[in-house]
Amino acid sequence: MSKVIEFRPAPSRDSGHRRETLLRFAARHSPRYTSYPTAPHFHDGVTGETVAGWLEALPPNEAVSLYLHIPYCHTLCWYCGCNTTATQKRAPIAAYVDPLLAEIDRIADRLPARMRVSHLAFGGGTPTILSERDLDRIMARLHARFDLEAGAEISIEIDPREFDTTLAPALAAHGVTRASTGIQTFDLKTQRAINRIQSLDITRRAFDRLREAGIADINADVLYGLPHQTCESSEATAKDVLSLEPSRLAVFGYAHVPHMKAHQRLIPDKTLPGPAERLDQADVMDDVFCTAGFERVGIDHYARVDDAMALASRAGTLRRNFQGYTTDRAETLIGIGASSISRTPSGYVQNHTGVRMWRDSLDKGELPVARGVALSAEDRYRGAIIEQLMTQLSVDLDAVSQIHARPVPDVDLSELEAAGIVTRTGSHLAIHPDYRPLARLAAAAFDTYLTGSGARHSVSV
Ligand code: SF4
Repeated sequence: MSKVIEFRPAPSRDSGHRRETLLRFAARHSPRYTSYPTAPHFHDGVTGETVAGWLEALPPNEAVSLYLHIPYCHTLCWYCGCNTTATQKRAPIAAYVDPLLAEIDRIADRLPARMRVSHLAFGGGTPTILSERDLDRIMARLHARFDLEAGAEISIEIDPREFDTTLAPALAAHGVTRASTGIQTFDLKTQRAINRIQSLDITRRAFDRLREAGIADINADVLYGLPHQTCESSEATAKDVLSLEPSRLAVFGYAHVPHMKAHQRLIPDKTLPGPAERLDQADVMDDVFCTAGFERVGIDHYARVDDAMALASRAGTLRRNFQGYTTDRAETLIGIGASSISRTPSGYVQNHTGVRMWRDSLDKGELPVARGVALSAEDRYRGAIIEQLMTQLSVDLDAVSQIHARPVPDVDLSELEAAGIVTRTGSHLAIHPDYRPLARLAAAAFDTYLTGSGARHSVSV
């Protein structure tokens, strides 16, 4: 590992009590709170006209963030929960670009000024499925309609399996500063069971090409709870990932929801680890990463001590949006592309999920809005509490109450407090570090929209 990483002791794994407590709460479903209200509460009462008004009302001098969604991949990974379509054909991808450019124009036309951009992210799908010419056209249109700030972070999700020699220099030439790589696991049996064969060598080659092109900040995503995954294979994957020297890591539990994602039926239930094994796999990876000097960030991320995300976490400026944890402090995130989600000070909005509906809407001269939700003062207040719990694992309720001029909510956290998951000191709530995945349950206590078991959401661990 690089010398800048200091040694940090592994977190304590001292007690059966901790494991017993985590297991007791692990199977509870709760939102991941990348927004509040959460996406299931978006509705079609928010239209393109509504959103046009929200865009026109943006403060013209504030920088915004942009997210561009590219919903295509060459093959489908069976665990995938993203909005994407597998295609081997070039035509649908090429046909996606003109409407994307039209949407950039449509949005820019509605803004109160030519606006600055502090963060630009390409996600998918596999955004690097775009040809270099497609990428050139998209970047040219963004530069024509927005001012990308000097030092703006430009990030892109890449698939190491399809990362040829010319791609990294092309990305660097467009100012890309950070790449996110999907890894998930290096265990071949599990890779076969999820239809994603990706060797360590191929992945290392992609990392090397990115670094040679000057893109030094590289994130890696790994999963636990995949078919046939074990503690041993999780530990081996974690160590292999460390050998690539990423700057950030995201460790997610596989969410098996075949009733919502039909292709996940290709993963038989009987091949999946149970709750105790999932917890042990997450713990094994946590030990490997913390022992190597990575800092825990939020509920499921890790960052090198010198990475901007670790710095933001320590400074209390970490934010959470639809892409997960971010150092992006812009209040407005504009999503462009099918299914993308935007956040404005007035509310959240999601584009049509299907490419055809999204394109038809643009062809009619509309903003391609499917649904959204306008934010009330109470939503903003509770959203601020929830975001602090999810990012800082603590919140001072009195302080947030004063900022929002609203009374402290009366919520019942007694079960979480009795279990030692939440500690209350005056108006200050803190999640015990050993229980950070359960911060979602504490956040859910402040969610007035959540009803019943929340079963439409994923399990907590
Ligand atoms: S490459 Fe990523 S987005 Fe595409 S199918 Fe696999 S997991 Fe999903």
